[in-house]
Amino acid sequence: MSVLPIPADSITVEEALQRVLDATPVLTPVHVSLAEAGGLVLAEAVIANEDLPPFPASTMDGYAVIAADGAGWRELIGEQMAGYMAGLTVRPGTVARITTGSPLPDGADAVVMVERTAEGNGRVEIQQASIKVGENIRPIGVDMARGQKVLNAGTVIGPGEMGLLASLGIAEPLVHPRPRVAVLSTGDELVEPWETPKPGQIRDANRYALGVALAEMRLPTARSTIAPDEKEATRTTLLDALAVADVLITSGGVSMGQLDLVKGLLDELAKVHFGRLFMKPGKPLHFATTTDETLIFGLPGNPVSALVGFEIFVRPALLKLAGHRQPVRPRVTVEITHAITPGDRPEFQRAVVSQSPNGHLLATTTGAQASSRLASMVGANALLALPARREPFEAGEKVQAIMTGPLVG
Ligand code: AMP
Ligand code: MG
Repeated sequence: MSVLPIPADSITVEEALQRVLDATPVLTPVHVSLAEAGGLVLAEAVIANEDLPPFPASTMDGYAVIAADGAGWRELIGEQMAGYMAGLTVRPGTVARITTGSPLPDGADAVVMVERTAEGNGRVEIQQASIKVGENIRPIGVDMARGQKVLNAGTVIGPGEMGLLASLGIAEPLVHPRPRVAVLSTGDELVEPWETPKPGQIRDANRYALGVALAEMRLPTARSTIAPDEKEATRTTLLDALAVADVLITSGGVSMGQLDLVKGLLDELAKVHFGRLFMKPGKPLHFATTTDETLIFGLPGNPVSALVGFEIFVRPALLKLAGHRQPVRPRVTVEITHAITPGDRPEFQRAVVSQSPNGHLLATTTGAQASSRLASMVGANALLALPARREPFEAGEKVQAIMTGPLVG
């Protein structure tokens, strides 16, 4: 296979992503309440400061017994339910009723489940002949022992992690905050979706599309504006957005046109790390940083280019800012179900990936792949990462893919 050469003025996606990640800081940790902590990344390890359970607890509804007593009729001395200490002491020949999660009464060393008993006239028949010491009891600290490391720094707080923090009474964990993101569309042609475009105008798709890409990452949009193709107005809008954001995402205005003003303004206001990629769609994608480490992504205006650029470069940067240790999605190998015409640049084609009955991942692209055609994003759960080459990709050929959504059944 002949792999096509990279033009001298462009850099590869891999090199560009490396530059983005190298220039992206990790946000300084803060304490937040548990209500706000879901999905955030722990900035320090969590050591259990208590034993869990904090008392020997029954795992069954039944009777607390002395194991050595074995089977037979016993005197019932009372009951121990969850949430308090009944102050009972089980002596040879006696038992106490107990429920799941309740503390084991003094003297008892096992619990017999209610299914293996009968009760009547203040007495209980234990029908289980052989009872092991410790049976149906969770000893102190069996789930988490005091001093044990239970979560590493860098762990994402999902449901299980959240439950652990709550169990341990860590009400304000130390986490990396969510980055603040501003989104800016540029272009004299743009009007809002509820407006009727005049001749020559179109509706702004990118702010709304990018808003959802951010929302899928649980990131609110701190600011969202349209800037006209006028230099001073765009400068003001850029500066205003930079003041409230850790990341500014612009779309449009980075190509070679006379009114592609963002390009020039990035040179004036920030340090540009790259502005031309060996990539399709998204060749003119710009990345810059300000002196206070605010990141600026100048995405191309075409809606598909903007969304693909977001996926490949902005998303990893946002994840790194938020403390994620693995901000780049792993690539998987998929089998294409049809031939694909190759391009002269490495291309990210939108595709639907499903699992075949024998466990293969099968990819079918979403039709015409023009960078203006948003319909090529619809229903896609993957980007195929196709190298630039002359030979067509053949049906059944294996290629790399980035899963952007759940597998289709
Ligand atoms: P530009 O990168 O500014 O040259 O824009 C490239 C193409 O994308 C042009 O056809 C623009 O009209 C279109 N475009 C730019 N911004 C948007 C937007 N926010 N929503 C929809 N289309 C856009
Ligand atoms: Mg434009």
